[in-house]
Amino acid sequence: MAETINRDDIARMLCGAVEKIRAGHETLSNLDSVIGDGDHGTTMVRAMGLVERTLTECAAPDLKGMLNDVGWAVMGVDGGAAGPLTGALLMGMAEAAGDGRPLDAAGVAAMFEGGLAKVRTYSQAQVGDKTMLDALVPAVEALRAAAAAGDGAVAAMRKAAEAAEKGAASTKDMLARFGRARNLGERSRGFADPGATSISLIFRGFAEALA
Ligand code: ADP
Ligand code: MG
Repeated sequence: MAETINRDDIARMLCGAVEKIRAGHETLSNLDSVIGDGDHGTTMVRAMGLVERTLTECAAPDLKGMLNDVGWAVMGVDGGAAGPLTGALLMGMAEAAGDGRPLDAAGVAAMFEGGLAKVRTYSQAQVGDKTMLDALVPAVEALRAAAAAGDGAVAAMRKAAEAAEKGAASTKDMLARFGRARNLGERSRGFADPGATSISLIFRGFAEALA
C-alpha cells in the first residue's frame, strides 16, 4: 500500500470522481427534484466535464497548479450553488497542497483541510444543516484521524470515503437550513441531501482511483 500520493495520483483521483458523478447523476438530480429544483446532477456533470477538460488541456506540471486550474474551471460552472462550492474546495486544496513533495496522510489531510476552509468562506452552513458540509466535514476529520493513527495516504482516503458516505446518509433525517431545500421546512426530511451525496461520490471516486 502506497504511503504517499503525488500529483499524478491526484489527477487519477479527480478522474475517478468524474466517473462516479457521471454514473450517479440521475440519483443526484432525483434527490434534488425532491428537495430542490432538480438540476444538481446536470450541474455536477457539467462541473466534472470541466475537470476532465482542464486535466487533458492542463499545462500545469505541479499539483498546486493543476488543482488551481481545475478549481477555477469548476468555480465558473453556471447554474447551482454546488458548482462554486466544489470549485472552492479545489481552490482551497491548491492553496494547501504543499511544496510538490509527495503527500503522506498528514499532507493529504492538510490539503483537504485547506479545501474545507475555503468552502467555509463561501458557506455559513454547519454540520447538521443538511448540506454538502455533512459529508465533507466527516471526510476531512477522517483523514486527520487516519494520519494520527499512522495510516498511509491510500488507507486514509478509503476511510474518508466511508466517512463521507456515512455523513451523506445521515442527512436523510435532517431538516434543511441552507440552499433551496430550506424553503421546504419539515418536508425536506426523508431524503438525503444531493450536495452531500455528490461529495460522497467524489470521495468514493478518489478512493477507488487509488485502490
Ligand atoms: P441549487 O440549489 O442552486 O440548484 P445545486 O442543485 O447544484 O444548486 O446544489 C444543491 C446542493 O448545494 C444542496 O444539496 C447543498 O448540499 C448545497 N448547498 C446549497 N447551498 C449551500 C450552502 N449555503 N452551503 C453549503 N452547501 C450548500
Ligand atoms: Mg438544484
